This record gives sequence, structure tokens and C-alpha cells, in this order.
Amino acid sequence: MMTTIDRPLPRRDGLHAKFYNYCRRHELRFQRCSQCRTWRHLPREVCHVCTSSEYMWERSAGFGRLYSWTVTHSALHPGFADDVPYISAIVHLDEGVRMVADLTGVGPAGLAAGLRVVVWFDDVDQQTTMPRFRQLIEVSTHRGKVARAGHRRRRYRLCSIGRGRRRHHSDARRSGPTAERGALAAIDGQRWGSRLTSVLRSARRRPS
Ligand SMILES: [Zn+2]
Repeated sequence: MMTTIDRPLPRRDGLHAKFYNYCRRHELRFQRCSQCRTWRHLPREVCHVCTSSEYMWERSAGFGRLYSWTVTHSALHPGFADDVPYISAIVHLDEGVRMVADLTGVGPAGLAAGLRVVVWFDDVDQQTTMPRFRQLIEVSTHRGKVARAGHRRRRYRLCSIGRGRRRHHSDARRSGPTAERGALAAIDGQRWGSRLTSVLRSARRRPS
């Protein structure tokens, strides 16, 4: 008979608990200094720029770029055995903070610094949700009126969440959607479409 060994979960106390409680609501939030407006992560009591202790938990849009990564080929804990090789990434969020998280749905060969990524939320059990990232793939530029107007529109589609995650969460079974607009909808907890389509990054629909 097979037994399943659970993965270790993040610590849930103090400011860390705040961060993960927002994740549970599928919101990626970081502290932001009320005085100098600097975002920060990991959570801490005092701003490293101006030393103010006043802050708010502000919501990140969830988009960023791959800053660095490591690929694990041999699980150091049995709870991760089904997922090797897996990618632990440092993501540079558009808000300016960096965070460590899994990057899913892309193989080691597809990794490159600057890869556009977006957060997704993996409900690993009844209490815990892990923020993870997946790739946004730029699929085209310069089309129709857009090209004539001289504007550059960037279109994206979302890659799949990837193997080894399917047991966790309904998100992983959805085939949907795409691009940043779709991703934002997902972050907001709205239902995803069932078909893989592309939408515009700027939330402007492609002219028909
Ligand atoms: Zn500050």
C-alpha cells in the first residue's frame, strides 16, 4: 500500500501568518511603507528605507519576471518526490519586491532570466494556500490598426500550471485562460474560461 508523505508547510505566525492569510484569499499582498511608499518582502516591522513602522498590506497585481532560479532533480524531502525536477524561482514582482516561489508549467530548458510570470494560488490543504508562479508567453505584436497606429501591443497566453500539481487544487484542472487580463480575473477569484485563448495585456480587446 502506498503512503503519502505530506510536504512541510510554511510557518504561520506573526507577520508571516498575515501574508499567508491573504494568500488563502488568493490575494498576493506585501507590506508597503505609509511614509516613503516602499514595498517590502519578507514581512518585517520596520521600513528598511526610512525606518517608519507605519505600513499597509497592499495588493500586488501578481505579475513579475524571473530573476533567478534553481532546478531540483533529487527530492531532499519525500513530500516533493512526485514533483522533481521542480523549479524554485526568485521572482521580481512589478511592484519591486522579490519573492521565492515555485515556478510551474515550464521545464528547465525553457528558463531564462526575465521570463514573464504571473502568480497562481495552490490550495494545498484546508488551511494553507501557496503562491506559485507560471509563465506568461508573449505570442505576437503589431497587428492591423495597432501596427498602423504605431503602437506595440503585447499579447500573452498563460502556460499550464504543470505536472505534479494536479492533486492539489481545482485551479490546476482548469484549462483556462490566458494573458494578464485572464490572470487578473483568476487572481480575483472569478471563473476562468475553459478554452485557451489570448487576450491583450492592456485589457483592450483585439480589434475584430
Ligand atoms: Zn519607508
